[in-house]
Amino acid sequence: MLDYESDHYCPAYKRVIDIDLCYESLMGLSKSVKISSVKELSEIKDIEEARRVCAECPYSDLGAGMDDWEIDPDLL
Ligand code: SF4
Repeated sequence: MLDYESDHYCPAYKRVIDIDLCYESLMGLSKSVKISSVKELSEIKDIEEARRVCAECPYSDLGAGMDDWEIDPDLL
């Protein structure tokens, strides 16, 4: 399972980034915030390619692992 808390290799930046930059970049690349609001995204020459790579990156699946949760029936 992926560790969402640790620095990891980003296929969009092609380098290791921390989790904060991953999250901010994901927001920019998924058009949730403006690209220009994440200054590091200016490092990336081909933003359209980065959008595609980011959409396919396992770290972009923020709900990953949720299916594994067991829900306490008393809470339903
Ligand atoms: S989700 Fe996007 S920003 Fe985060 S590591 Fe993957 S490609 Fe990079």
